[in-house]
Amino acid sequence: MGTREAVFVYSRELEKYPYPPEHPFNTIRAKRVREIVSSMGLLSGAGRREAAPELVERVVLKKFHSARYLHALKEASEGKFNAEALGMGIGTPDCPVFDGLYDGAVLATGGTLVGAKLILAGEADAVFNPSGGFHHARPERASGFCYINDVALACMILAEEGKRVLYLDVDVHHGDGVAYAFYGRRDVMTISLHQNPRTLFPGTGFEDEIGSWEGEGYCVNIPLPIGTYDEAYMKAFESLVLPLIGAFKPDVFVLELGADALAGDPLANLCLTNNVYAEVIGHLLSFEKPILAAGGGGYNIDNTVRAWALAWSVLCGADSENQEHALGGVMLGSTDWQGGLHDRTLAVSNHQREAVMPAIENTIKTIKATVFPIHGL
Ligand SMILES: [Zn+2]
Repeated sequence: MGTREAVFVYSRELEKYPYPPEHPFNTIRAKRVREIVSSMGLLSGAGRREAAPELVERVVLKKFHSARYLHALKEASEGKFNAEALGMGIGTPDCPVFDGLYDGAVLATGGTLVGAKLILAGEADAVFNPSGGFHHARPERASGFCYINDVALACMILAEEGKRVLYLDVDVHHGDGVAYAFYGRRDVMTISLHQNPRTLFPGTGFEDEIGSWEGEGYCVNIPLPIGTYDEAYMKAFESLVLPLIGAFKPDVFVLELGADALAGDPLANLCLTNNVYAEVIGHLLSFEKPILAAGGGGYNIDNTVRAWALAWSVLCGADSENQEHALGGVMLGSTDWQGGLHDRTLAVSNHQREAVMPAIENTIKTIKATVFPIHGL
């Protein structure tokens, strides 16, 4: 494949549109990720560079969103807010109206779409836009902190060019906006691993939601019990996701990298370390196809920033180069943590093991029975 080209997407312009201070979604995360990876020298040199988000025309947004919704979103953003907008989820506590909301959402989307463009042009093998990942936005509804669904749009644009797209969503919440956008299609396979929807927003993403018509078997939902830990998560990933990728044979991956599945996230209840994120990306890289990664949730800011910095270091090939120095996650003799960006391993109690593993094994069994045969597995 020659030298891999990895592109990190950011622009100071993104800093102009923060959510209200009391809102959990904090756009400072992307800025801090960039600072860390820049200080590590991971934004330049052979095979690594930066790009800025591109401008996105309304006609492109309309591939996914209705004209009526985009109009209401822009008007609300400019202070012209009405009941019709509220009916579309604009101006709720989750999706508040704030200054520059529309321009900020479009710019963040432009970060993901410039990545799709670079991949289509053969100019990038891995792209990371930590300012993207708004997987809950619907064609005519703002939802779950999301206004414009950059990842659904990226999948659409890649599919329009004839690519087989594998959308993988590791955010702790079900990637509903993307899953339902392609529910009846088989050129975009969506796989979402998330906390069991009985216990978390948005309340969808059960294992029996597998797509319909042509798309049956091309939507995969892997609900995870409260307390899911690294080993259990990777068992589900390796038993289900890897064979499905192998069977689907994607041309490109779109990855929603919400970091709210990490232990200590204030909005969710899983117990992962960022080593899972590194392992998942490592597995995707082994397929030697381009990866378009976007951010997403992640409400423990420090943990999210470290996970995304680690994700970038894996995507751009630096993490494997560093392994022999950093001993990825191993405690050395001193009291200093020598794992670099890698989290320490978390202890798992027997009680946790007994609560989590049987549920995961059940889910694996169910999906193997319902989805695998459709793919000849
Ligand atoms: Zn989330």
